[in-house]
Amino acid sequence: MEFLINLSYIVASVLFILGIKMLGSADTARKGNLISAIGMLLAVVVTLLESELDYPWIVAGLLIGGAAGTVWAKRVQMTGMPELVALLNGFGGFASLLVGWAEYARDKDFAASAYPTFTAFAVIFAILVGGVTFTGSLVAYLKLSGKMSGSAMTFTGQKAINAVILVVLIMVSAVFIVTQSDWALYMIIALALALGILGVIPIGGGDMPVVISFLNSFSGIAASAAGFVIFNNVLIVAGCLVGASGIILTVIMCKAMNRTLVNVLFGSFGGSGKSAAVVGEMKAISTQDAFFILEAAQSVVFIPGYGMAVAQAQHAVKELGSLLENNGAEVRYAIHPVAGRMPGHMNVLLAESDVPYEQLCEMDDINAIIENVDVAIIIGANDVVNPAAAEDEGSPIYGMPIINAYKARTVFALKRGKGAGFSGLENSLFFRDNTRMIYGDAKETITGLVAQFKG
Ligand code: NDP
Repeated sequence: MEFLINLSYIVASVLFILGIKMLGSADTARKGNLISAIGMLLAVVVTLLESELDYPWIVAGLLIGGAAGTVWAKRVQMTGMPELVALLNGFGGFASLLVGWAEYARDKDFAASAYPTFTAFAVIFAILVGGVTFTGSLVAYLKLSGKMSGSAMTFTGQKAINAVILVVLIMVSAVFIVTQSDWALYMIIALALALGILGVIPIGGGDMPVVISFLNSFSGIAASAAGFVIFNNVLIVAGCLVGASGIILTVIMCKAMNRTLVNVLFGSFGGSGKSAAVVGEMKAISTQDAFFILEAAQSVVFIPGYGMAVAQAQHAVKELGSLLENNGAEVRYAIHPVAGRMPGHMNVLLAESDVPYEQLCEMDDINAIIENVDVAIIIGANDVVNPAAAEDEGSPIYGMPIINAYKARTVFALKRGKGAGFSGLENSLFFRDNTRMIYGDAKETITGLVAQFKG
């Protein structure tokens, strides 16, 4: 039986890896997701075949967790997905913490384990990383959902306090591995939970994408540690896959923001720096006047941002794009790596509305030709087109690569009002001479332009 179980775990692991590989392309992504899900089903079923399991508790957990998850996932709006993902990451971390704690409660000196010191180490690792992931993700959830200010929260001595907590954690962990005492365990749990909160509150503004993918990686590492605690091979493998892919994504996100991970975690982005005052005024234009300009345009670039997700404007955008093409314009869609609220957010929305893959442009490609673009239409994007990142050395986002929309001949900025971007910074692009604001919900504005084109 044990041989069969481990064989199935290997098959499940191979399915995970194949599935992840297929997620790399839009054409195979759905199939990849299904293949990974089949791998997970196999892993769960086979795990349930193990002896000495307490089935009533497992069934009760499945029913309660399954019902809560289903209701939540069905109710969530597409714009709420990022915070749901942040929360689920946190629960993953919490589960690992509980596994570590339960293993200690079951066998306090790990006498039943073949490798007591190693198990004590794995228990502490699962609790520590799981605890940090749990509270860190809760703070990320609160920031993303707007229940807590998205900007960096800093206070004097913050870094020193975090450093002291980390050092004490390492020391108490060493004590626990040697003594396996209750007080050490409880202290580690409390400190790990505190470190998660204190570690994420000073990270604000545009750096949240990095934090989300970093915490995602942490939840995988915690799960892997939990796998070592209970000697479950598939949990170790699946945890490592999440941990490794999360770290890769974190590095990609850091590169997209031109920052190092250390700088993101300890640099208090959005909390320091003094931006130059923005002068001038925003100039509005009606959809009818915008239509006349668009009708004469030879090349148009759509630059979507979080506001497109809020407005669910992607289908209307695609329709306008097709009408512009029929009118003889060259149409492109420029995607910034951190536009929206989760990695790949804009790609998902544009794929949903069947925008042709070859019309999607990465940031560097569009920046190379943006000066020759007649009209850049910004649909609810703000931080990712903020020229302060390129021009204002005092700005907290100075150095972050942006889509250089301000270099296009004419810019239309579609937004509801004068609201700032996620980082809370004012955007001088909206005040420039070549920019015209089209106020209102992005979907309504685009639908209005579509109606003008259809005559
Ligand atoms: P921003 O959040 O900077 O700006 C969005 C803009 O959309 C707002 O200025 C808002 O202005 C406008 N808006 C909101 N609703 C509507 C609507 N219904 N119709 C029209 N406009 C609307 O978006 P960006 O995509 O430019 O930048 C993403 C930001 O989020 C970056 O700072 C990034 O670092 C951060 N982030 C990204 C994550 C990721 O993984 N991609 C994760 C977490 C954070 P108004 O209120 O005036 O309408």
